[in-house]
Amino acid sequence: MTREVDPPLTLYIHLPFCIRKCPYCDFHSLPDRLGDESAYVARLIVELRHWRGFFAQDTRLLHAIFFGGGTPSLLQASSIGSILEAVRLTWPLEPGCEITLEANPESCQREKMAVWREAGINRVSLGIQALDDQRLRLLGRPHDRAGALEAARGLLESGFTHLNADLIYATPGQSLDSWRGELREAVGLGLGHLSCYALTLEEGTPFQARHAAGRMVLPDEALSLAFFGFTRHFLAEHGYEPYEISNFARAGQACRHNGNYWAYGDYLGIGSGAHGKWSDGAGVTWRWANPADLSVYLRESFATPERLSAREAGMECVMMGLRTRVGVERARYRGVTGVDLVEACGARVMGLVEAGLLEVDGERVRVTEVGVSRLDGIVERLVG
Ligand code: SF4
Repeated sequence: MTREVDPPLTLYIHLPFCIRKCPYCDFHSLPDRLGDESAYVARLIVELRHWRGFFAQDTRLLHAIFFGGGTPSLLQASSIGSILEAVRLTWPLEPGCEITLEANPESCQREKMAVWREAGINRVSLGIQALDDQRLRLLGRPHDRAGALEAARGLLESGFTHLNADLIYATPGQSLDSWRGELREAVGLGLGHLSCYALTLEEGTPFQARHAAGRMVLPDEALSLAFFGFTRHFLAEHGYEPYEISNFARAGQACRHNGNYWAYGDYLGIGSGAHGKWSDGAGVTWRWANPADLSVYLRESFATPERLSAREAGMECVMMGLRTRVGVERARYRGVTGVDLVEACGARVMGLVEAGLLEVDGERVRVTEVGVSRLDGIVERLVG
């Protein structure tokens, strides 16, 4: 089996440092480890060269680069510049390569913004999370509403034209009315992209423990659905296309790196806890994950790629693709499984089409607007 078209290749760089741990967060993020910054940056560069050697035959250029975390803005701006310089020397970039940096308001000073721009960062994703001080305190965030607004203003005035704000909704005690006010204000900031996530309770977090002990009440299912529907409707009305279940973009502002991930493209992940996914020309998908332990990352060898079965790769391709408005690309699915999704899952696909939850054409399989709030059930019925 050979693939019909090479998928794009992007680079994800994980920077796990944070000021403190937010009580809902289960990402690989570490307070109090900034003392390891320079050793970590040096290790990232070693890892980058390691993968360049490992995939020496691959001639693709980098389509996008994404600094995620953690809080990448917490690092010295010169560290971001050093990493990017090493990337350019190791792996050629496509012209106009999107280079995103995740930033939080409390570490987003204007002097840093200037250095980021100089280094080549051309997109910033700002972790605003809420525009209400009470909600920010509940979420355990170190910034306040004024700090969030100042950071957004500073980025715009520094000349960044591709900006995202992350927002969290469906938090304890939140009303739809107050969310409408925050969302209106977020739209008024004039950023081209918004990511809006419902609060989820992750295993092992303080929020999950509080909820289990009956000390935290989340909105019920009906209210959560109302938040979800309202957010999509309101943002669509204000010119933000819901191009992924939680992501909304004005024309030309969709995130390339994340888009490639959802389209089941290839990505090289470097850093502690980072994941990678690679497809070779013979249609085999490879995966790896570095241990989510900074000390181990600094001293031990990097992860070894493991081969995914066609079934595993096909499931991942469907799970990712159905999150997006454009849906699963049938050619990409054929490329990783050797069979066509509609032919392989014919009765299940048709059942979902008849129920008004899926749409199919010659190139793609996508979830309808009715199906979008029942995504988990659709994926389960299709490939579970
Ligand atoms: S700032 Fe982000 S990555 Fe860091 S602890 Fe909070 S939610 Fe997690």
